[in-house]
Amino acid sequence: MSEQARRPLVAGNWKMNGSLTSNAERLLIIRAALDRLNGIDVVLCPPYPYLAQLGQELAGSTAAVGAQDASRWAPSGAYTGEVSAPMLADLGCGYVIVGHSERRGLLAESDALVAEKFEQVQAAGLIPILCVGETLAEREAEQTLAVVLRQLQAVIARLGIAALENSVLAYEPVWAIGTGRTASPAQAQEVHAQTRGFVAQCDAKIADSLRILYGGSVKPDNADELFAAPDIDGGLIGGAALDAQAFLAICAAAQRTVSSNG
Ligand code: PEP
Repeated sequence: MSEQARRPLVAGNWKMNGSLTSNAERLLIIRAALDRLNGIDVVLCPPYPYLAQLGQELAGSTAAVGAQDASRWAPSGAYTGEVSAPMLADLGCGYVIVGHSERRGLLAESDALVAEKFEQVQAAGLIPILCVGETLAEREAEQTLAVVLRQLQAVIARLGIAALENSVLAYEPVWAIGTGRTASPAQAQEVHAQTRGFVAQCDAKIADSLRILYGGSVKPDNADELFAAPDIDGGLIGGAALDAQAFLAICAAAQRTVSSNG
């Protein structure tokens, strides 16, 4: 399978932002444009309280709803504050982000915990979007690939390589998230290609079909050159996903890669 066969995916991570009113306004604009976005997958990941709202407002559209995290425990029990993957499935989610660097950093989520969450998400029939990426200090110490592969291997060690079949990977250098500092297309492509190469050593077919998104200050004015890289299969978008027009412009950039490949 060539890279053309991987359907681009653009996921918006709204983080802890939004309100019923502002979400409705944003969704009105996005929903009206979805029909024109052929050939790509679009996923919107709001905070938990708004998952039902997005489910309703996007019903019958081509966009999927995703959550930003899931509990390591399932399906229910005495785990105050936790939300289980089966509950997310019940709400109509299709995807769940796991291992975002803000959770790894601010909440000290370990590689092992992220792998447990990944497992629960897949067990509930949902698609995990596994975030991996190095800090600036790790990049400067030339540890980028080692960190990315360590984070990925925690999942493979727990679940086997086959678990990557129904998953999405997001390479998000921590130094590029919310900073306005983007990895260059060459820097991102290098990590994506090396990561895919690592997966290929375990299973070439899974490596060929695995979608690897880039995340880190993707904007309308840098999306085209990032998405043009052969191993970048779309983006995980933070700040720009809060602006409907910017998000749609990024989706359009992903769509252009389909047109130019096909
Ligand atoms: C993110 O939070 O996953 C992200 C990539 O954020 P931003 O686009 O704002 O850098």
